[in-house]
Amino acid sequence: MNPALFKRLSIFSVPAIFLMAAFLAFPHLDDLPPAIAELLPVIPLFILGSGMLLSIYFNRGRVFALYVMLLLACWASRLFLPQGGMALPVLQVIFAALCLLLPANIALFCYMREKGILSGAGKTRLLFLAGQVVLVVWLVKSGRTDFLHLPFSKVEGGHLLTVLSRTQRALLTAAFIYIGGRLIKRQSPIDGGFLAALAALVIVCDRITTPHLAELFFSAAGLTLILSLVQDSYNMAFRDDLTNLPSRRALNEHLIGLARPYAIAMLDVDHFKRFNDTYGHDVGDQVLKMVGSKIGGVAGGGKPYRYGGEEFTVIFPKKTIEDVKPYLEELRKTIADYRLCLRGSDRPKDQEEGKIHRGKSADQHVSVTISIGVAESSERLRSPGEVIKAADAALYKAKKWGRNQVCS
Ligand code: GH3
Ligand code: MG
Ligand code: MG
Repeated sequence: MNPALFKRLSIFSVPAIFLMAAFLAFPHLDDLPPAIAELLPVIPLFILGSGMLLSIYFNRGRVFALYVMLLLACWASRLFLPQGGMALPVLQVIFAALCLLLPANIALFCYMREKGILSGAGKTRLLFLAGQVVLVVWLVKSGRTDFLHLPFSKVEGGHLLTVLSRTQRALLTAAFIYIGGRLIKRQSPIDGGFLAALAALVIVCDRITTPHLAELFFSAAGLTLILSLVQDSYNMAFRDDLTNLPSRRALNEHLIGLARPYAIAMLDVDHFKRFNDTYGHDVGDQVLKMVGSKIGGVAGGGKPYRYGGEEFTVIFPKKTIEDVKPYLEELRKTIADYRLCLRGSDRPKDQEEGKIHRGKSADQHVSVTISIGVAESSERLRSPGEVIKAADAALYKAKKWGRNQVCS
């Protein structure tokens, strides 16, 4: 399978596994020993509470807000059980809040940028949530439910069944499409946690009077979110922020388990200090991003890393120098031929105006070259460290012989 497609599919697997486990466990809950069954209502509180603490530890404001919502939803869903004892109009308002406000909030918080829990944006988000709670409480107290006009419930065989209105279905579907699309595009584990929370909410709302359903599915969503927080932190530690390539730490991990034979290439941007001095550090960053994305697309099964600064490493497992030289030569040429467009300061930001002015603005095109040194494992170069040193020596040779070339 294409590795990119596999990665895309695997990002759905964590939410899918936890939700599937909840589905499979649900029919067996009645068979649980009474001592364990008594613990069931506490389990989601424990999981959601732990996730909340973890989101505080990682300072993830969006996830913290989502845990607050899941805890509220978990508490609210208990009111719908036969012993919940709430009057029908009150349940109607709460059900509307669960199926209208929560999915809208989940989609909105998923869209927002992560800015921490107690930053200005984080506090506004929590105030926004508190405002909604106040609104729901006010609606309940004032008894103003007539305007909701929701096909809320019917009684069947003595059981109260909730019915999702067309608006609620449309909103839930729209939220699903948005978060699912975002997950495919950005492949962020946190988005996977948001999708699991929304799926759990849909399942619970569809059968809200069913005992233990909310506990089970909100627990599954809470666990998915915990795992997504851990995955996200792992990515942050092992991925370089600027180029989005795996970092030096990830390279070291790969080197530990690397089996012979293999080839390693060291790549370095030519005269980059001079480039920074001429165009500024920000343009330098843009160029590093471009170089990183081209190196990320290297052919021949090469695994790219940002070694540090303007230096990159590519590991080619099971390959020799002769195997990989054509791929490295192609990469060198692709980067040398690439023209990065810098916006002139006079260029209008507005797209329409920009079309009129195109060709007249002071846009500038810049380009860089890279030098590459490559070495392979052998009886003489037994450890990855020795191969990297040899690749470094070859890189030095490429620099000495005029740069913009591949040497071994
Ligand atoms: P050579 O062709 O010999 O490699 O020359 P060079 O100027 O590229 O080599 P040198 O190692 O002296 O300079 C590397 C420069 O890369 C210095 C530093 O300012 C720049 N650099 C390192 N990391 C970054 C970064 O993340 N962003 C930007 N913009 N510049 C960086
Ligand atoms: Mg360098
Ligand atoms: Mg350099």
